[in-house]
Amino acid sequence: MTATEISAGAAPDAGDHATRPVVAVVLVAAGSGQRLGYGMPKARVPLGGEPILMHALRGIVASGVAQQVCVALPPDDGALRRMCDDFTSELADGGPLLTIVDGGATRTESVRSALAALEEGTQAVLVHDAARALTPESVFHRVVDSLAAGALAVIPVIPVVDTVKTVEATSDEDARIAPEVVVGTAPREKLRAVQTPQGFDLETLMKAHREAAGFDEAQAAAITDDAMLVERLGVPVHAVRGASQSLKITTPLDLIIAEGLLEGPLGARWVEG
Ligand code: C5P
Repeated sequence: MTATEISAGAAPDAGDHATRPVVAVVLVAAGSGQRLGYGMPKARVPLGGEPILMHALRGIVASGVAQQVCVALPPDDGALRRMCDDFTSELADGGPLLTIVDGGATRTESVRSALAALEEGTQAVLVHDAARALTPESVFHRVVDSLAAGALAVIPVIPVVDTVKTVEATSDEDARIAPEVVVGTAPREKLRAVQTPQGFDLETLMKAHREAAGFDEAQAAAITDDAMLVERLGVPVHAVRGASQSLKITTPLDLIIAEGLLEGPLGARWVEG
């Protein structure tokens, strides 16, 4: 896909490009949410009076970038399925097609199930974590703009504020001193924290996932995002500005911060540019 080949696809307020890719958003929402400690899948956990999944879905639809939204849900979760069905009825005419698939045991498997359910004619795909329920529309637009300009892979990133070190477990004889020892310090100015939605030319992402299908258990466990798989193909992965409120709701503290973003003094939904 190149910027000149792509066509159609409404993307209101998404920049000045004359042509837009036909975009599907894959929303992975099949995680257990164990680290959040709510005793239910994370997508069902309430945030500002509505389940996390609903915030994520509304954000995608509001961005206007998607012709299809394919949601990977925990298999057999009737409540989340009903929520998606109700949302489909709520969508105005001309809204994106909403498709539901069963998620897998890992995030990568959930993405793979969703990719298999995309409509014929889809040219680009944005893979988004439901856990990033408050991602502003501007981030979706920056990712799609980059794809429309010719990127085969693009990720939203933010600068890292902490100094980041790599560590190893200490040897048995040093274990009484501390559990880990530092083996390196990456230069912070070159580090970026990676968010979603990650955008890809569909063919490129499909190829990357096909090549990863033969991974052993350890290799599969090491895949934490889709861009990693595309990097292995030698395809350049471009980076655009993410947003700090696009935090991944993982721990109870994250949920408190997300609640604060919705209710805070700066407005019902504080949005940085
Ligand atoms: O587990 P992690 O925090 O990396 O999950 C990131 C996203 O991937 C979450 O939105 C979660 O619902 C989703 N996920 C999934 N299927 C899994 C595991 C995670 O869809 N098996």
